[in-house]
Amino acid sequence: MKSLGSIRREFAPWNDPQAKAYISFENVTKRFGDFTAVNNLSLSIYEKEFFALLGASGCGKSTLLRMLAGFDEPTTGRILLDGQDMRGIPPYRRPVNMMFQSYALFPHMTVEANIGFGLKQEGMAKAEIEQRVAEMLKLVKLEQFAKRKPHQLSGGQRQRVALARSVAKRPKVLLLDEPLGALDKKLREETQFELMDLQQSLGLTFVVVTHDQEEAMTMADRIAILDKGEVMQVATPAEVYEAPISRFVAGFVGNVNMFEGTVAARDADSARITGASGAEIVVGNAGEAAAGNAVAFAIRPEKIKVSSRRPEGVANAMEGEVYDLAYLGDMTVYHVRLDDGQVVKASALNSSRASDDALSWNDRAWISFPPDAGVVLTR
Ligand code: ATP
Repeated sequence: MKSLGSIRREFAPWNDPQAKAYISFENVTKRFGDFTAVNNLSLSIYEKEFFALLGASGCGKSTLLRMLAGFDEPTTGRILLDGQDMRGIPPYRRPVNMMFQSYALFPHMTVEANIGFGLKQEGMAKAEIEQRVAEMLKLVKLEQFAKRKPHQLSGGQRQRVALARSVAKRPKVLLLDEPLGALDKKLREETQFELMDLQQSLGLTFVVVTHDQEEAMTMADRIAILDKGEVMQVATPAEVYEAPISRFVAGFVGNVNMFEGTVAARDADSARITGASGAEIVVGNAGEAAAGNAVAFAIRPEKIKVSSRRPEGVANAMEGEVYDLAYLGDMTVYHVRLDDGQVVKASALNSSRASDDALSWNDRAWISFPPDAGVVLTR
């Protein structure tokens, strides 16, 4: 399949067979008693990559970060950083720093003292600390807040102090556990872009844990989707969205419609999928699926057109009734109940003010899509 690549920037060492991974998890398993939190997981992260670990609560994201930082060791398997096996190396001797979700700022210390704390502990000379702290304050645009204490700052400012503190020691890798978790939605969105800028200007490798798929999609070069301690897919945000490899991944990221069926026939550039009700879907690329396989055809709502009449000349069209309708300003989301009972979601951009094909509740409607609008999933 054609790689969709990174949209954000020209950076794709994972496509270069010569490129060496900077961080490697090799068959890492972590057990707590008889509970397996991470299960034989292998993963490569490249230098200067913005890498996101995405998954539901309890899937093992934080456990992976903690093992990378050195707060925990794998039960079996190994973690390499720049070619070096990290087993037995304590956290403070790893070129890694971790920014915790709680930020853990010292409440009695000023912003500048918080940022300089780790440097002082390391025994850095006073003048050098002052210079580095000033540099960090500038980086996170908090110069005029240097003398304030954390309780005199907003949530977003506290987050930036924590960031400045965690990059002050110039680690090679910064680990961020839900870095924006404490911020409200609007501030989160702004801060996502600040984080991306910071990562690029410092040339650091970022590994971010999040359960927020939009956040991972916005910020990361690549995303690992985890479930129950295993990797389900590692890919760029665009690939995860456009070319999920399983029903789980397709359903986890964004909205999707799934048509379950059986491959009735296929050749090199087309296939027919027959659903339980006998309705057929024509697809361009059936991937790994062979004739007779049970598959799901996954298609995103924005790839489906809704109209009041059967559209001419499209491969796939199905009839139903508008069952629900949500006007969201920039777009309208239709829920169409097909005559076989399946409810299909379709979204349409409201790019012109007057629609020439206005549909309302309970109207008969057609959904349609071309053969290459979705993916065929065997898993
Ligand atoms: P969340 O998003 O809720 O933080 P997570 O994906 O980061 O979740 P982890 O914290 O990595 O999840 O935990 C993975 C699993 O391992 C969980 O089921 C958790 O209960 C378990 N676990 C983590 N640490 C320990 C521990 N020290 N002892 C026993 N079980 C643990």
